[in-house]
Amino acid sequence: MVVRVVIAVVLALVIGWVGIVALRAVSGAGRTARPRDAEPEDVADLDVFFVCRECGTEFRVTRLGEAQVPRHCGERMDVVRRPSTI
Ligand SMILES: [Zn+2]
Repeated sequence: MVVRVVIAVVLALVIGWVGIVALRAVSGAGRTARPRDAEPEDVADLDVFFVCRECGTEFRVTRLGEAQVPRHCGERMDVVRRPSTI
């Protein structure tokens, strides 16, 4: 009987601990998604643009970190690489 109570308590503690660890992993995912030592890629010479197909807004990309395409007008922007005009 006592053994069962001990097992129940231990199980409850393990389940609670796993839950806390899982919550921390989920909440901290945004901050730790990118390695700290990863240098953003310098793409200023490549003329890379994020283009919104809906309204035509263009963002010029000069430094590209982790590949995360921004959204505009609710849609993912297109990544366009154009030859240098200069
Ligand atoms: Zn737009």
